[in-house]
Amino acid sequence: MSIFSGFWITLRTIFRRSFTQRYPQQGKELVTAARYHGQHQLNRWPDGLEKCVGCELCAWVCPADAIYVESAANDDINRYGPGERYARVYQINYARCIFCGLCIEACPTRALTMTNEFKLAADSRESLIYHKSDLLAELTVGMVAPPHVRLLGFDEQEYFAGLPPTGEPDKRIPSLDGRRAPEPPWGDS
Ligand code: SF4
Ligand code: SF4
Repeated sequence: MSIFSGFWITLRTIFRRSFTQRYPQQGKELVTAARYHGQHQLNRWPDGLEKCVGCELCAWVCPADAIYVESAANDDINRYGPGERYARVYQINYARCIFCGLCIEACPTRALTMTNEFKLAADSRESLIYHKSDLLAELTVGMVAPPHVRLLGFDEQEYFAGLPPTGEPDKRIPSLDGRRAPEPPWGDS
């Protein structure tokens, strides 16, 4: 009897729709879950300046020693971030990374997050080392490629004063001379 119930399970499974998808998909891209930890991204403020402050917390917490950071000072002629320092060199070695996400948890400025991008296969170890230019978020509307002055407020105080409440997207609009604190689109409350 148990033999027949075994055959019945096999028979039933043969006709069930397969969960496996061919890669690359033809006509339909493979979709990952929203929570999937893929390639990292270095994020920007709404004026295009970089959020990374070069603190190296992500590198220190990484259990695989996959991150390398070298920081440098910002000044008003050569400014990449709104604060004191920025990451002059930022590398992630995907031959080492185990995609645990500890680095994004450690980042104090939410500069580092992970995307759903999973196509990271390469044919050499060198090409698995991603540099800052590979990891930086693309410029979107209103952003200007650094280096440039702060466009969300003239000084650090003004720049960060308009930050949205926790969980809200930062929709501040950069002003061209950076001397006017932009109106927060969510109001003063
Ligand atoms: S995801 Fe984990 S292993 Fe990969 S760089 Fe971040 S901390 Fe290191
Ligand atoms: S990504 Fe975050 S934790 Fe890493 S150096 Fe930049 S600010 Fe620090």
